[in-house]
Amino acid sequence: MKRVIVSGGTRGIGLACVKTFCEAGDKVAFIYKSSSDLAEQIENEYGARGICADVSSEDEVCRAISEAVEFLGGVDVLVNNAGISEVGLFTDMHGADFRRVIDTNLSSMFYASREVSRYMIRQKSGRIINIGSVWGRCGASCEVAYSASKAGVRGLTLSMAKELGPSGITVNCVEPGVIATDMNSHFDSQTMAELCEETPMCRIGEPEDIAGVVLFLASDEAGFITGQNIGVDGGFGL
Ligand code: NDP
Repeated sequence: MKRVIVSGGTRGIGLACVKTFCEAGDKVAFIYKSSSDLAEQIENEYGARGICADVSSEDEVCRAISEAVEFLGGVDVLVNNAGISEVGLFTDMHGADFRRVIDTNLSSMFYASREVSRYMIRQKSGRIINIGSVWGRCGASCEVAYSASKAGVRGLTLSMAKELGPSGITVNCVEPGVIATDMNSHFDSQTMAELCEETPMCRIGEPEDIAGVVLFLASDEAGFITGQNIGVDGGFGL
């Protein structure tokens, strides 16, 4: 039984991760920002613990990790998943909006990883799994802040893997392609059909496609994999 923390566990990919770990018999705490009703449902259904915190705030992340570790009795796996997108011309974007995306998608991963590392280094084992994006590799027009944040996640993953490897901790990044979640709900059906057409596997991904790979990276079988950015994108962006 692993002790697992998932950020952004109320919806989409994070929710699929919470369910997948719980179904595998692991003990899970998840962080969310505002979906308290969903959090309560997940707690009741899966016995996971929901913790309300804004991951863009360093203080809130420190509090949330500490609460999660207390509930779990330690921590073996951190899934840095919470994220937001912001669509629009970058020439129209205000600095505050740019910083909000970077703080939510990238700084949050630094805060949470640093906090769990304190425990993982002591026990000389741990798994940190960051959710990046295909756009961190390819760059998306009209998603400049988002793409920059996800490119940052690649660098964070590589550097942390080098620094934490000697302490028995692996750090990897899963980079989804287009996945059917609320994050893409602003796209109309024609845009979704076009995105599907651009995907060699001819379908939009499901949150479970990502959760399965995350579960594998947390498993004993993945103990020699670190510093990798793994595309789970059906070939999108090749
Ligand atoms: P969703 O919008 O479906 O869910 C986002 C989750 O993150 C929710 O649980 C939300 O909590 C939480 N969250 C958002 N902001 C904060 C915050 N400031 N503090 C705490 N929790 C927060 O997103 P997805 O499942 O689609 O995306 C998950 C990750 O996967 C993201 O990092 C995203 O960039 C990445 N990704 C997604 C792709 C896709 O096509 N969907 C493609 C590539 C990458 P609440 O419910 O309380 O708002």
